[in-house]
Amino acid sequence: MKKDKILVIGACGQIGVELTLALRKMYGDANVVASDLREEHDLLKGTGPYVSLDVMNKEMLHVLIIRHNITQVYLLAAILSATGEKNPLLAWHINMQSLLNVLDIAKEENIDKVYWPSSIAVFGPNSPMQDTPQHTIIEPTTIYGISKFAGERWCEYYNHRYGVDVRSLRYPGLISYKSAPGGGTTDYAVEIFHEAKENKKYTSFLSENTYLPMMYMPDAIRATIELMEADASKISVRSAYNLSAMSFSPKEIAAEIKKHIPEFAISYEPDYRQQIADGWPNSMDDSLARADWGWKHEYDLEKMTADMFKNI
Ligand code: NAD
Repeated sequence: MKKDKILVIGACGQIGVELTLALRKMYGDANVVASDLREEHDLLKGTGPYVSLDVMNKEMLHVLIIRHNITQVYLLAAILSATGEKNPLLAWHINMQSLLNVLDIAKEENIDKVYWPSSIAVFGPNSPMQDTPQHTIIEPTTIYGISKFAGERWCEYYNHRYGVDVRSLRYPGLISYKSAPGGGTTDYAVEIFHEAKENKKYTSFLSENTYLPMMYMPDAIRATIELMEADASKISVRSAYNLSAMSFSPKEIAAEIKKHIPEFAISYEPDYRQQIADGWPNSMDDSLARADWGWKHEYDLEKMTADMFKNI
């Protein structure tokens, strides 16, 4: 039997650090190769192999995959929503070419499985805002959302046409304490905890009643691994699954934080990210993920807030 050997690309980002550590626990430290453009993240140091990699360099990526006998690739490198709006052509180029490089090498080398995350950003102002269904109008208006939607189509295409076993989730905004967020529209929900603890106040760049789908990182890591571990026969969606846990507004998270820090005060100064958030769903219907491979979230706003304050 072939032994699993995993490559994580973008391993030093908000998701990558925690996912790499979780995969190392499951598959053995030496069997999970972490890679990124950046210097190795402190939390990864000494936990397993690390390689400096620009995923845009297809030749180098190909050599790395062959040299390490890689059987599974997790591609997390991307330009996120808020950063993408500052340089749309760069975001398109990186988000698309990185995926095409990975999918094409996966096809050529018969890689067992590929993971690539999509996002709630695929939806746009014409999608239903509440309980946004898996299959609905998808007209993204940010370059990030456009690149994610195109990426979903490429994933399904490589699966149907070439049999590449690629799997994907439309992550909501992710909240974590181990590694900092990387320039997304939901970053406020991470910053607010640190500011509450250090300064007892926070100025939100989204308005008080902006509801967005959110998830605590332990749930996101578990969802990712459960999807990748699921029997291929259970995966009916080869573009990307809606994935959901909770939905809240800046006002609601502030109220929850006040239960832990009564003097905490929030103010609102919406900036360009407000327009991005306004085009995204308020909440998502992820019933297909629940039915197909048994997804079940564990953390709601209350439980997540308590855990964040325990750890930051
Ligand atoms: P992040 O920005 O924190 O991390 C991305 C990592 O990729 C960084 O460490 C960066 O150095 C690396 N990278 C960038 N360009 C690279 C290149 N050319 N070669 C190699 N590495 C490169 O992002 P994240 O939040 O960890 O997101 C990971 C994935 O999940 C992305 O595809 C993102 O779109 C998706 N996602 C994230 C969220 C969220 O809330 N964090 C929500 C939905 C989807």
